[in-house]
Amino acid sequence: MPGDRPGSIGADLHLHSHYSDGLLTPAQMVDGAVEAGLAAMALTDHDTLDGLPEATRHVPPGVEFLPGVELSCVYRGREIHLLAYGVDPGDEDLRAFLAGFQQKRRERAARMVSRLERQGIPMTYDELLAIAAESGPGGGTSLGRPHVAEALVRHGAAVDIDDAFRKYLRRGKPGWVSKACIPAVDAIALVHSRAAVIVIAHPALNLAETELVRLVGEGLDGIEVWHPKHAPGQVRRLEALARQAGVIPTGGSDYHGPGRTKHEIGSSGVPSSTVEALREAARNYE
Ligand code: AMP
Ligand code: FE
Ligand code: FE
Ligand code: ZN
Repeated sequence: MPGDRPGSIGADLHLHSHYSDGLLTPAQMVDGAVEAGLAAMALTDHDTLDGLPEATRHVPPGVEFLPGVELSCVYRGREIHLLAYGVDPGDEDLRAFLAGFQQKRRERAARMVSRLERQGIPMTYDELLAIAAESGPGGGTSLGRPHVAEALVRHGAAVDIDDAFRKYLRRGKPGWVSKACIPAVDAIALVHSRAAVIVIAHPALNLAETELVRLVGEGLDGIEVWHPKHAPGQVRRLEALARQAGVIPTGGSDYHGPGRTKHEIGSSGVPSSTVEALREAARNYE
């Protein structure tokens, strides 16, 4: 692939550390990307920039690091995830804005715990915080359902994380509580005001094609075409849609750590030239 290091498999533009619902520290994520032979990587924790400085410090020469964040958004009544790339890890206004969502996530997790307690599972909110902190300082800055799922497994209420989601944490299940989300059009404006770009994550999981086309028209810069949960037919369709819309096709593993994601770092990756395309698109908003 042009622009890639010899032996490299390119870029993984969708990765989670323990600052959100991943299991590894940002430094460990960087090490994993290096071991996978990647030329470029992005860290895209849910609703937080707090893992970015550590990752940035840890990136070795020859590996490109794109600072990112995965924003929990809502579009026409549906929850969707938008990946922002090229954000400034030190952007205090953005950090303060996201801190509000982190606080709402903590309140939501506490409500989930209360609901599950009423189901007879003797779990506590402090236990969630302890689980999130096991991987080190900063763990669980952006608390989410996977932390609750882990607690459910430890209490023997589910055999694994997937089982916990199926039985308790999906919409309509006893532990489910809705999450505060940013209206997609607001997220697009916010990210562009930072001279950063914004791409829809795993669209095949959340949106019908007509809705996706409509959303792209709201100003998205790219579509995540390659994702472990996209079937080959969906990938082909999304690739064609990105081409038709003139937006950047991106991809990444959505890796959350060993055992938490079935796919390894680097799977569903893209050529590292994609990073340059994203950076170039971002320059249009300066
Ligand atoms: P939240 O943002 O708190 O609603 O949690 C959503 C996160 O849970 C996603 O980003 C995934 O990482 C994870 N997730 C969703 N469904 C499952 C599942 N069935 N098994 C494991 N993890 C899941
Ligand atoms: Fe996640
Ligand atoms: Fe997502
Ligand atoms: Zn993700």
